[in-house]
Amino acid sequence: MEGHTACQGFSGLFREGAGGYAFAMNALEAGRGERPRFERLSQSAGARRGRLTTSHGEVATPAFMPVATAASVKSLTQKQVDELGAEILLSNTYHLMLRPGADRVAALGGLHRFMSWTKPVLTDSGGFQVASLSALRRVEDEGVTFRSHLDGSLHSLTPERAVEIQEKLGSDVAMVLDECLLYPSERGEVRAAAARSLDWAARSKKVRSRPDQALFGIVQGGSFTDLRRENARALVDLGFDGYGVGGLAVGEPKEMMREMTAVSTAELPEDRARYLMGVGTPVDILESVALGIDMFDCVLPTRNARNGTLFTGLGKIAIKNARYASDESPLDPGCRCYTCSTFSRAYLRHLFVAREMTAATLNTIHNLHFYLDLMRRVRLSIEEDRFSAFLAASRERLDDSAA
Ligand SMILES: [Zn+2]
Repeated sequence: MEGHTACQGFSGLFREGAGGYAFAMNALEAGRGERPRFERLSQSAGARRGRLTTSHGEVATPAFMPVATAASVKSLTQKQVDELGAEILLSNTYHLMLRPGADRVAALGGLHRFMSWTKPVLTDSGGFQVASLSALRRVEDEGVTFRSHLDGSLHSLTPERAVEIQEKLGSDVAMVLDECLLYPSERGEVRAAAARSLDWAARSKKVRSRPDQALFGIVQGGSFTDLRRENARALVDLGFDGYGVGGLAVGEPKEMMREMTAVSTAELPEDRARYLMGVGTPVDILESVALGIDMFDCVLPTRNARNGTLFTGLGKIAIKNARYASDESPLDPGCRCYTCSTFSRAYLRHLFVAREMTAATLNTIHNLHFYLDLMRRVRLSIEEDRFSAFLAASRERLDDSAA
């Protein structure tokens, strides 16, 4: 499957023992910071250059969030992720609830302290994982009930519980629980899910209690322009610190994804961050920046790295290919990452073919550098008001396929 589905690990499930809040400790750890706030600094065509300020530091936007599903960017240390210039990570509520559990993370001082990552973290709500576990789920107005794929145990997740869990984790940005449908879905179904998600968003807002955590609403409405517009307007009326654009990159054509993104952002306030969830390829990201999106996450760079697919300035490379066996040139001659400035394609191919663990590390360093460097150049092009030209040049150069 493509897009969002391809962009998320979804072996997630939900489980958490009863237990008290380690909330005070969390608040202490976070320095009793203020609620994250977003500022738009400049604009070039539809692209926005902004800044998200949190108690764990600032995030220059448009930003890419490397995915640290289980409080770890697979194959990298936090120091390596930091040195790559990542300013915010995304962690997955489902996975952390299952293992090691929100109460345990809270008791250990919250997610930042637990994983020794001092910069901002965004947590998803588990909504997408619910959709991907649809064979096991039952969605009702109250919330969603489903069975663990690990041990078959029954779990429930309500909008209130999703907020409570994310407050225990102590992320800088929390997402409301939403009902995310895959594409295609019938209009009636999409309408009902959007209405339910809106109700859940209102309930989420009502129970939030952390003063140092932003809560983002999520625009739903599938691929129906009027439903999406209506949903976005109602969500904005409720008022959130930022807005996710959800229910996209779930298998729909690219043109539809772009159209629905545009319909969504057109309704969102200029002074709030917009996060396109689970997107995407380098071209997807650039096209979405043009539509006014500020934040992105996707497993593509990290997962592709582990599969030996490497992004370069001239398209993708499958490093296992025999043609690289004696190739002494760097992976991407235009790249200044540790991998490219130190090792040959021949060595990287050898590590991959020999299944050395270092292959995943070196490949991930390169792919994340590629994404993060692309975002740096996007931001610069907006600052210098030449984003349209940057987009046009990049479209031709970059390969738009996912793998
Ligand atoms: Zn590189």
